[in-house]
Amino acid sequence: MNHSDNQAPRRRIVVLGGGESGTGAAILAKDKGMDVWLSDFGKIAPKYKDMLDSEGIAWEEGGHSMDRILAADEVVKSPGIPDSAPVMKAILGKGIPVISEIEFAGRYTDAKMVCITGSNGKTTTTLLTYHILRDAGLNVGLAGNVGRSLALQVAREHHDVYVIELSSFQLDNMYDFKANIAVILNITPDHLDRYDYKMQNYVNAKFRILQNLTPGDAFIYWNDDPVIAAQLKQVSTEATMYPFSEKPEEGDAAYVDAEARMIINTPGTSLSMPRADLSLHGLHNLYNSMAAGISACLLNIKNDDVRKALSDFNSVEHRLEPVATIDGVRWINDSKATNVNSCWYALESMNTPTVLILGGKDKGNDYSEILPLVQQKVKAIVAMGVDNTKIMEYFGDKGPQLVDTHSLQEAVEACSRLAVKGDTVLLSPCCASFDLFSSYEDRGHKFKAEVLKLNKQ
Ligand code: ADP
Repeated sequence: MNHSDNQAPRRRIVVLGGGESGTGAAILAKDKGMDVWLSDFGKIAPKYKDMLDSEGIAWEEGGHSMDRILAADEVVKSPGIPDSAPVMKAILGKGIPVISEIEFAGRYTDAKMVCITGSNGKTTTTLLTYHILRDAGLNVGLAGNVGRSLALQVAREHHDVYVIELSSFQLDNMYDFKANIAVILNITPDHLDRYDYKMQNYVNAKFRILQNLTPGDAFIYWNDDPVIAAQLKQVSTEATMYPFSEKPEEGDAAYVDAEARMIINTPGTSLSMPRADLSLHGLHNLYNSMAAGISACLLNIKNDDVRKALSDFNSVEHRLEPVATIDGVRWINDSKATNVNSCWYALESMNTPTVLILGGKDKGNDYSEILPLVQQKVKAIVAMGVDNTKIMEYFGDKGPQLVDTHSLQEAVEACSRLAVKGDTVLLSPCCASFDLFSSYEDRGHKFKAEVLKLNKQ
């Protein structure tokens, strides 16, 4: 009998989706000696094909070979694939365990995990936290929705700490993974199409970030969020709570005092800095800065390092990103504002008359949430989309001047006509981009390019 006859069969891992997370998961599975195969219903980008080929990992694209998929012991699924997809129905029907790449990677590392979720502000807070920790000299990795695959980093690099942006879709397939610091920034309705149109299902997904936390772990959250508050009445966590809010409230770990200083109190740390020194402006970014600051203090980063990093962080592309000031008009790219709530925060941070570009693919928007701010700050709305009917009808008799446009060029041209010295033009569209653009990044890049052309005229 040869030696291999005695060996247990190798664990069969099927990875669904050949993007950043799937390719990373496949490489980690291979490194751990598993029998791994990757299947993608669409096209796999050349970069990932090359990576898989050079690792000798077999893959398919443009369809799913069900026999092979249903022979898996475990499936690692890309967060973009809904449970309603036929392939998932078959896998779940057969009772094959399905996990996310983060769950998979978490099995193979002892690094400290700072995990950030919320409906809005995840990327900003994740990058800001990463910036503080990295500049303070920690050996830190950036992963999740932003950054590189956690699994790939766990397989091929060594980090002591990871800062991970977690979407509700990733959390859906996380079970034993344990954060050391868990952050929920806020919860407002989003992605309800993936949650049977039930808000509670979406809230439950977000709260999965708390599963497995122990008393030595931290839960950081916005104290004024009614959805988080209601959920905390239903569920309990062993973690130590670090709430934050703008005005001091009982138990807050961060708040702004009467002298407009941001205060952070954690065991062993008391940090104070003028709110005006924060590099990211607006109330929403105060919250993001507090969440990042509390996390950093809990990781024993020195106060001076936290203060410095919170004040020298560059804004994140497509999030209230200053583009240019042309003839005294400030142009701001907030293309990532794909829901009404994020536009609310963008408007909240405006301190000049504003020309607002709204529109795109509507996700069931209720514009009444931004109406008071629109009436207070917006002199004109430029609707930009294939079909602007809903915007034109809703804002029709509510005050601001309305312009109906159907291309970016038309919209920018209208804005430059409407805005005068001292005004701000804000692209914060409340909608997905897919009617006129391939993604919110594409919309933001094209917007910036079009605005910069004005400079040359
Ligand atoms: P996410 O990664 O959760 O989508 P981003 O950091 O990319 O969040 O920001 C998305 C949008 O939400 C931006 O337009 C930004 O202005 C807005 N935003 C950022 N932080 C917050 C927050 N804490 N609360 C509400 N809106 C926010």
